[in-house]
Amino acid sequence: MNASVWAEDLADLHCPSAVVPTDADTVIIGAGYTGLNAARELARSGQRVVVFNKDSIGDGASGINFGSAALGVAAPYRAICARYGKAFARSVAELAGKVLEEFCQLICREAIDCDLQKTGHITIALNRGQLTRLEETKRKWDSFSDCGLVLLSKDKVKQYLDVDRVCGGLLNADSYSLNPAKYLAGLFNAAVLAGATVLEHAPISDIQRIGPGLFESRCANALIRSKHVVVCTDGCPMPGFKPSQRGIVPVNSYIIATGPLTDSQARLISRRVFWTAHTVPYYFRLTASNRLLFGSRKNIAAKPSKSRDTAELIAGMNTVLPFTDGIPVTHSWSGPLGFTFDRLPHIGVADGIHYALGYCGKGIPWSAHCGIAVANLIKGVAKPEAVVSTPIVQPLLYHGSAWFLRPLSWYYRSKDALIALKQ
Ligand SMILES: Cc1cc2nc3c(=O)[nH]c(=O)nc-3n(C[C@H](O)[C@H](O)[C@H](O)COP(=O)(O)OP(=O)(O)OC[C@H]3O[C@@H](n4cnc5c(N)ncnc54)[C@H](O)[C@@H]3O)c2cc1C
Repeated sequence: MNASVWAEDLADLHCPSAVVPTDADTVIIGAGYTGLNAARELARSGQRVVVFNKDSIGDGASGINFGSAALGVAAPYRAICARYGKAFARSVAELAGKVLEEFCQLICREAIDCDLQKTGHITIALNRGQLTRLEETKRKWDSFSDCGLVLLSKDKVKQYLDVDRVCGGLLNADSYSLNPAKYLAGLFNAAVLAGATVLEHAPISDIQRIGPGLFESRCANALIRSKHVVVCTDGCPMPGFKPSQRGIVPVNSYIIATGPLTDSQARLISRRVFWTAHTVPYYFRLTASNRLLFGSRKNIAAKPSKSRDTAELIAGMNTVLPFTDGIPVTHSWSGPLGFTFDRLPHIGVADGIHYALGYCGKGIPWSAHCGIAVANLIKGVAKPEAVVSTPIVQPLLYHGSAWFLRPLSWYYRSKDALIALKQ
């Protein structure tokens, strides 16, 4: 039960070369969505691009995620206003809409077959307190943007999810689901076809600036010189590179998948994507082959433990969706999300090294935008929008050890318990 349910969609991906070239125009670290989007754009403009990936292609979040492309960012708009002001928050909302649109256009333009569907998503309330929360969320979003959120009654939600405990929901019809591994495979093929060299099992351990506009990166015993280096490692911080090591908090997300549901079981849950309205939510959906994916970030403070995490998720799934009791779970896996302290994605340059990262669990649409934007920055054709180019927040007391996740986890669980009491 170690591999993700998407592993077989990546089985045919092989890097044509294993040889590290001695020089390149741009070295990209990380062959996930960000790195491959940047590689394709740079290679098409005529650059010699080499992408390094630590393990096999798809080992990062891009090969194992839940496959929900939704509008927005992880930061609540209240928090963005408090840190950066109301005008900035409005610009984030505007850009988020553009990012999702661009993402769908990219998949069409590159003709990537990845089961992309406009499924919409519903956040379900499992108690009165959560319902009040959803009503507040709708009011806040409506005051910011015209994103068409719709409050659903209990009966309406039951048309999409036949579960008695639900007492209402909030529908966002403008979101998508896809097969994340097929999308990654499409990006890989496009980057290689454009002329980029992609290397797997090729970790970069050190980057040195050896002259104006000249870098030397080390991969095992090989050295490669390049004019540019781009760090695209999101939730796997790059040792020695401060914006990644001191600006990113890796937070694990866990997923289980059942075997294909029977027709009568599958009729109880529609093709929409579902989230619960907890502070640390559960999320679930059907795949194209009628498997049920069920995930959570519940254990944000704990190191992944296969047996404990799987047991906790199965218990959560049976509680939220009682009809799943007894359905066999065939896959269980986890991976890190790259959280930033302002919960916004960031594109920037530090010590001459470019980076694009920090998607906080919203990386499917944002990594396409940020990968292309960082390539445009290197080509000198466009600067990224102001809302993604503020300096990445690096608190004085954070050096990569996230000691604060344990109290935060406790606070979130207590908050959810208190909300559940408000009947
Ligand atoms: C379980 C899970 C569920 C998720 N669900 C969703 C979702 O439903 N919707 C959504 O929008 N987002 C989701 N995400 C987040 C999303 O998958 C990521 O934000 C996105 O894939 C990030 O892409 P990336 O290319 O920036 O990074 P990654 O895909 O993480 O790729 C980074 C790559 O960098 C490589 N690397 C790291 N260090 C080095 C090094 N030193 N040398 C060479 N290579 C290195 C790694 O091997 C890795 O392949 C989820 C993430 C997880 C883990």
